[in-house]
Amino acid sequence: MATTTNGINGHHPNGVHTAASSKDFSSFKVNQSRLMDHIHDGCQFGAAWKYGDDPTETGMARLALNDADKAVRQWFTTKAESMGCTVTVDEMGNQFAVRQGKNASAPPVMMGSHLDADSNAPQTQPTGGRYDGILGVNAGLEVLRVLEDNKYVSEGNIGVVNWTNEEGARFPMMAVSSGVWAGAVSLEKAWNLAEVSAGEDGNKKTMKQELERIGYLGPVKCDHSENPFAAHFELHIEQGPILEAEKRRVGVVKGVQAFKWFEIEVSGRDTHAGTTPFYARKDSMLCAAKMIVESNRIAKAAGGLATTGILTQEPGSINTMAHTVHFTLDIRHVEDAVLETIRKECETAFAKIAKDDSEAGCKVEWKELVDSPAVKFHEDCIKAVEEAAEEVCSDLPKTATDGGSLWKHMISGAGHDSCYTNRRCPTSMIFAVTKDGISHNPVEYCSPEDCAVGTQVLLGAVLRFDKRRKF
Ligand SMILES: [Zn+2]
Repeated sequence: MATTTNGINGHHPNGVHTAASSKDFSSFKVNQSRLMDHIHDGCQFGAAWKYGDDPTETGMARLALNDADKAVRQWFTTKAESMGCTVTVDEMGNQFAVRQGKNASAPPVMMGSHLDADSNAPQTQPTGGRYDGILGVNAGLEVLRVLEDNKYVSEGNIGVVNWTNEEGARFPMMAVSSGVWAGAVSLEKAWNLAEVSAGEDGNKKTMKQELERIGYLGPVKCDHSENPFAAHFELHIEQGPILEAEKRRVGVVKGVQAFKWFEIEVSGRDTHAGTTPFYARKDSMLCAAKMIVESNRIAKAAGGLATTGILTQEPGSINTMAHTVHFTLDIRHVEDAVLETIRKECETAFAKIAKDDSEAGCKVEWKELVDSPAVKFHEDCIKAVEEAAEEVCSDLPKTATDGGSLWKHMISGAGHDSCYTNRRCPTSMIFAVTKDGISHNPVEYCSPEDCAVGTQVLLGAVLRFDKRRKF
């Protein structure tokens, strides 16, 4: 676990206060057009789903470890090395670009996100946008460029990390590589993950095979204790409608809500739609429909969320009841305890529906697929982001619909690599405005102004945290 501090600073380890480090970084400005040029330049690799006339009006289909991902990784290395950064690669293909500070032996403050760009959860049609993950990595590179422009010498090293396969669309485990780094997922398990869809040769390749094929199975141990960070900051698009609706500019993210995924199996009996009276039916589809409606009611009442994204039935015939229905249930809440209450209430309600409310009765079985507890980010990181957000927002037009602050405390609704880094080093996130709340879609959009505002907050947060470090 890296150290966190409130310390005093600006001092060289030998006590000398250098001219460069005493420079007031509040005058440092992110270069918006340079930032956007780089975002779109990197998107040449894997661009897909054209939706407008401008060359930048496309989505992305850049699945982890495919050829486009290999190309953007080389692009990332070239950009980082051109600034004098040292770039290393670990056993999961995670890339670490580090710019040297005064105390070069201490763990770096990292700015991280991911360059795989597609819709998450296993899916054969990858339809991603140009900002999810991509903004965070590019913002990190832009922060380093601003430090270079100003010849700034930070207290310790500062860097950018590109995490492999965050989306989990090709290799079906979300944030798997930050998970390995944090010791939450074993290296063997991650390496052996097979891709969701077979390639042109009909074979499903593993992560390890693909890491080797594209030359990104690196020599550095994928391990937080061998490759520690002082902190991890992630700028990400909000992926929701709140900031835009309230006309605010920045989300100061305090944590991530808890979620659980289940697969529910409802078994009934396949009998004829014309000859079976209602009282004699074991209609698994009707049963599943009532369960889905009930999960929605329960989650709403508890201030949480419930979603069914997949529903399949057998045999699938117009004039026959389904004998088996499978559906997924994704439930979320900010508090672990309330999430557990939602689960229990659903369990009780589903059992009752199966037994009493669906004619002659069905059987229901639950299988838990994912259990992701609530995440609370680190106070020192949140504070650094708040201060930076306050400073950046003080220069912006006061647009908030309630006349209040342009930044807002938020809880992330989606999982991120920061959930794993938070287990091993001080971590927090910054949200940027997302047009119409749309992500995992080619039209996903964050305006150049909002990309720059988010990056400016990232810069301010990272430099504040760095200044307060004690070695
Ligand atoms: Zn993302």
